[in-house]
Amino acid sequence: MASGKEASLSPRRLERKVAVITGGASGIGAAAVRLFVIHGASVVFGDVQDSLGEALAKELGSSAFFVHCDVTREEDVEALVNTAVSKYGRLDIMYNNAGIVGPPVVSIVDLKMKDMDAVFSVNVKGAILGTKYAARVMIPSKKGVILSTASIASVVAGTAPHPYTISKFAMAGMVKTTAFELAQHGIRVNCISPHAVPTPMAVSGYQSLVPQLTAADVEGLMENASELKGAALVADDIANAALFLASDDAKYISGHNLLVDGGFTSNKTYNP
Ligand code: NAD
Repeated sequence: MASGKEASLSPRRLERKVAVITGGASGIGAAAVRLFVIHGASVVFGDVQDSLGEALAKELGSSAFFVHCDVTREEDVEALVNTAVSKYGRLDIMYNNAGIVGPPVVSIVDLKMKDMDAVFSVNVKGAILGTKYAARVMIPSKKGVILSTASIASVVAGTAPHPYTISKFAMAGMVKTTAFELAQHGIRVNCISPHAVPTPMAVSGYQSLVPQLTAADVEGLMENASELKGAALVADDIANAALFLASDDAKYISGHNLLVDGGFTSNKTYNP
């Protein structure tokens, strides 16, 4: 009987795996690109920030390849997935990470449908497209892992503007329904829900609410908002959660929304 120890004995968790990561030029996505490469994966990553993406690919050498990809465009996402297959021969891991906060709308009476559309296009449609094109490749090979970056805003209200919160709840729903469907094909589907991580998106999100805050002020606020004292949440912590879920160490985990929130949502209603 297989003990399952084989995967754990390898210090490199993603040896010979091929991964696609969206929103990979900055923040959590860039941390995941780096960590997946360190763990032996070949990574094709997409973003709309070409110069940042190209610089990261150059830094990482032949194991990382950048492709311009706007996740709101179906043809871009299809091309991103196809690039991984044509360049590295297959696809093992799809990580839908691209996201935007959108405008700081906190009252439903002020909500503009154009703002909803903009946030949904990236956060929901982008993740659906990544899941769709990854599943098309993974179903015939009877295995694969699909991840998405959700947020604590996928499980509790009051932590982010309405469009963002609604979009992340939708993303968590997409994860549930696709995990249920794709299990029959040996494909695991999960998402990760971070609390506040000091990335360009989060810093500018705070600054749109309180413009006089500096980036250092925002980082201090984020650290203070944490329930877990003595540890500041950083992008590498989310990349590590993604690494675990992407690896064979998580071989029976699917349909899960992994909170990386230092206990922040523990005293709030949460239906996983
Ligand atoms: P970030 O701004 O550093 O990175 C987001 C990346 O997504 C950027 O490189 C951006 O160019 C890219 N992107 C935006 N729109 C895109 C599009 N249409 N097509 C392709 N790429 C696009 O921010 P981050 O914090 O690293 O965000 C990554 C994910 O983490 C997002 O889904 C975000 O919602 C989620 N998240 C972040 C936090 C946080 O506090 N930073 C908390 C919870 C969840």
